[in-house]
Amino acid sequence: MSDGQKKSSPSPVSVSARFLTADYLLPISAAPIANGAIVVDGKKIVAIGTKSELAEEFTQIKVEDFGEAAIMPGLVNCHSHLEITAMRGFLDDAEADFYSWLIKLTKTRGERLTEADVKIAALAGALEGARAGVTCFGDIGRFGVAGFQALKTNGLRGVVFQETEFSPIDETADEDFKKLTDKFLELKAGETALVRAGLSPHAPYTVSRKLFELITDYAIKENIKISVHAAESNQETDLMETGTGFFADIYKNLNLEWNAPRSSSIEYLSQIGVLRAKPLLAHCVKVSESDIERIEESDSRVAHCPKSNAKFGHGIAPLEKFLRRKIRVGFGSDSVASNNNCDILEEARFATLVARSAANGSRFLTATEIIEAATLGGARALGLDREIGTLEVGKQADVIIISLDNVAQQPIHDVYTALLFASNARDVRLTLVAGEEIYRDGSALKIDEAEVKAKLREISAKMRE
Ligand SMILES: [Zn+2]
Repeated sequence: MSDGQKKSSPSPVSVSARFLTADYLLPISAAPIANGAIVVDGKKIVAIGTKSELAEEFTQIKVEDFGEAAIMPGLVNCHSHLEITAMRGFLDDAEADFYSWLIKLTKTRGERLTEADVKIAALAGALEGARAGVTCFGDIGRFGVAGFQALKTNGLRGVVFQETEFSPIDETADEDFKKLTDKFLELKAGETALVRAGLSPHAPYTVSRKLFELITDYAIKENIKISVHAAESNQETDLMETGTGFFADIYKNLNLEWNAPRSSSIEYLSQIGVLRAKPLLAHCVKVSESDIERIEESDSRVAHCPKSNAKFGHGIAPLEKFLRRKIRVGFGSDSVASNNNCDILEEARFATLVARSAANGSRFLTATEIIEAATLGGARALGLDREIGTLEVGKQADVIIISLDNVAQQPIHDVYTALLFASNARDVRLTLVAGEEIYRDGSALKIDEAEVKAKLREISAKMRE
């Protein structure tokens, strides 16, 4: 590097600065750049342009050329449950009956798995994300510390939403709130620049009205991000609107009194004030036009999880309507127990196909707007778009590089369609978070992948005993 410095007077950067180039660069905030390049210094992006422009400006930095590939902002997975990664493929025999699915999940998590097991599972899930070009997670954790540590250990960015326990009655709300905030404050104390803590009142049908109100007031006062599962299934709608069906039967069996609000989940969340906190609403499958208006007017956000919804047979959330109204929507894998993977390119592809099909051609989502939703959209949904989501000078260097040279992707006529319709997680070559390389060409750089996989196999054997 000192040679370069003698030859000219390049723009000043530190000795650790990196110059990455490839046939395509997608800033997302602007049109793709052919033969594009990015200069990363420390945690931030310091230059974007063509390879030739930046090569003249930064003569002192070694050029790393990825050839036929796309450099783009990291993908954002705005709804995951990393802590149940060990359940991948374990609940499929029960998913035709949502009740059996929930019971098998809860029993296994409670009786078979230790805290250490859950932490290993979360670590594996976070690594799966890093390998898939996910640089930022919105993770929900009943055992929040597992996801929190997993993101930190893998060098990932994210918000971990500490989830409520089953807490459907007002009488215990103060106690429930105390339990939740104790766990949240523990996470909060361990926050870093990359990993932050939020709160997740689980869903309108498992959290009492009083607890919702306590959490909302606290979140608004303390500026805490919250995420809620909402309008996911017909069973939820039945309980909320008529006090009948699957969940009502469970409550009857548990001798719990449940007064149906006789409104939709979104209407209910609006009525009791939760939408004031601009929550990230996961699913929003069962939403009416007026529900969508409420989401838009309150500036609530949506985590769209089409594969999980389809795998359960829950239906299709109206992505095209969310996008038309400029609602902040990103993609979520949900847990790998109901997906069964964390591959945001695949999620985005599936989202596009089902949205086009469901809209009967009335609106045709484009590859460009969907790739934007998978990056900037997710960042906006998590309220992190000032820091990430696009490749722009001054933003955090959350950058991925996706190879386009597999015969299954060739030829490339348009980079957006090649990425959306012909690429997947396994094409990712490099994942950088805040300038730090966490995955490259098959190798995890922050954790021992072989060890994590070996432990996961031990855990799965124990689960099947
Ligand atoms: Zn979920």
